[in-house]
Amino acid sequence: MQRRIIILPAILIAFILCVYCIVNAAFDIPKEDFTGQPTYKVIKIIDGNTVELLMNGKGTKVKLIGVNTPQPLPHRREATRFFTDLLKGEEVYMEQESGSTTDEVMAYLYRAPDGLFVNLEIIRQGYGSAHTASTFQHSELFDHYKEQAEKLEKGLWAPEARIVYITKKGLKYHREGCPHLKFREIYQVTVRAAKNCCKDPCGSCVPPQ
Ligand SMILES: [Zn+2]
Repeated sequence: MQRRIIILPAILIAFILCVYCIVNAAFDIPKEDFTGQPTYKVIKIIDGNTVELLMNGKGTKVKLIGVNTPQPLPHRREATRFFTDLLKGEEVYMEQESGSTTDEVMAYLYRAPDGLFVNLEIIRQGYGSAHTASTFQHSELFDHYKEQAEKLEKGLWAPEARIVYITKKGLKYHREGCPHLKFREIYQVTVRAAKNCCKDPCGSCVPPQ
């Protein structure tokens, strides 16, 4: 009886540790060994998830697997800027998924020489969302870090990155559909950009601050 009392909690603890290890292992950031593999020079960043690389002497568009670029224009601009900061003037290693059927070159990129996993970094810092419509090798990892970025309000998930509306001359910024925007030319901006050009939140529609 005494022995059973000791063994049962031990089994339980071992089981909990096992589950903990499995769950955490699933979210380990992969470290690839690219020894002997070619690197590709970054020519330019096209948008938040597409880059032009120098491959076999010519510029080739490469799209990041698993990364959705955000839709509103101000967010697309910020995502492109973040991606540019990550890769401007750099060289990258490339990894493709087997069985890819699209004509586009889709790839995972790793920055040389520090090995930064670029696709994941964009999602992790909140500048792209995980492409949930398709499954790919790292989909669970990407979903996990997308949820983390959202929870921690990083990058485009931050309150000051929310989309609001301004007019050229108006002194306020607004929510979509505010009556003060009627019959005027309106522009989509982030809260941060609205504040930077000295606009205050509208008192009628009370946009995010
Ligand atoms: Zn308003």
